[in-house]
Amino acid sequence: MAAPKKLIAGNWKMNMLAADGVALARAVAADGQGAACDLLVCPPATILAAVADAVAGSAVAVGGQDCHEAESGAYTGDVSAAMLRDAGASHAILGHSERRHGLGETDARVRAKTIAAHGAGLTAIVCIGETEAERDAGRTLDVLGAQIAGSLPESGVDAANTVIAYEPVWAIGTGRTPTLDEVAAAHGHIRATLESMLGGDAAAVRLLYGGSMKPENAADLLSVDNVDGGLIGGASLDAASFLAIAAAA
Ligand code: PEP
Repeated sequence: MAAPKKLIAGNWKMNMLAADGVALARAVAADGQGAACDLLVCPPATILAAVADAVAGSAVAVGGQDCHEAESGAYTGDVSAAMLRDAGASHAILGHSERRHGLGETDARVRAKTIAAHGAGLTAIVCIGETEAERDAGRTLDVLGAQIAGSLPESGVDAANTVIAYEPVWAIGTGRTPTLDEVAAAHGHIRATLESMLGGDAAAVRLLYGGSMKPENAADLLSVDNVDGGLIGGASLDAASFLAIAAAA
């Protein structure tokens, strides 16, 4: 089966007020027209609707950075998957390491959020990745396998509603990246784990690499087997850098 079309996704994290975010999204939409890959920007929830309006009709899709697992209720400060969808999102990043490690999100919670995202018609971008201590202890592949098994729902997962992002925790925002062989080993293991869960359907699920991807290293990282795109943090805050990565895809 042919490799899936690549997806280049920007995680803006807690950056951008409305005017700058809309301008960035417009620049990505204008200059990304005709890109050979799919493009996604994930702004903070406060400007998601404004960004979605700004890119409506373009090739750029919009995603949230998290959602609550409940449909509604007394969850001060949270947003539901349906709220993201209502604001114009088609995707939601779930289980980012800044939430797993900063806020104590467990695999079980990420799984519940993934089920909520699917229920609202969103594509879940489920993030997994080992810490530096886990890598040093030789546990990387075991950690990734356990995170996939624990974070994905037991049924209903397919290539249309689920993307996996492999993000080594120690590579996020640090300027450090795994070697290409290490990326290949991780992505190969993720694909094999998905095959054991989904059978032949696993081949079409997109596997993104994330962690200090920049224009300078994107072509190499994106050429690795089973790397079907990138999840980009810092370099997604600048349209030229983000689009240079998209061009490398
Ligand atoms: C991220 O936070 O998802 C990420 C990959 O960040 P950066 O590109 O800045 O390492």
